[in-house]
Amino acid sequence: MAYEIYCKNCGRKLLKYEKYERKYKSPVACCKKCGKEYIDPRCHELAIEGIPEAEFKVTNGIFLFIIGVLIAWRGFYLFGMRMLGTPDSMQWLLPTVILLLGLALIIGAIIDLIRILTGSKKRKYERLLEESRVRISSDEYIRKLKNLGYLREGVSE
Ligand SMILES: [Zn+2]
Repeated sequence: MAYEIYCKNCGRKLLKYEKYERKYKSPVACCKKCGKEYIDPRCHELAIEGIPEAEFKVTNGIFLFIIGVLIAWRGFYLFGMRMLGTPDSMQWLLPTVILLLGLALIIGAIIDLIRILTGSKKRKYERLLEESRVRISSDEYIRKLKNLGYLREGVSE
């Protein structure tokens, strides 16, 4: 399900996003129309929220890999089928799309697993954490996060 947020000042649509989207950078953004600052709900300050452990779960990659194999296998299987209502010249299209989707998932899962196992993913998050620490070391930045509603009561600084 997609969410939308609008500028509180001028009403312009600021962004549309899916709930699972997460970015690890400053959540402070500016309305392109009126310049008013707002909080991008996709963005998270790692120095405040901590590094998400779920990003390092090998089981997620293995799960995606298996889904990819099943989808690719399905696409491969469809090559031998004739689809009713589809012209002969287009019979290859759907199986090819499904097969490529499955292969993309497999490759994505393998790359993610390699990055986790070699520690390169960890290093990337440590770098992002350090950048976040630098940002939140500024009192002015913390005040801005509070004013914009990113830091609420109960959230430690
Ligand atoms: Zn605006």
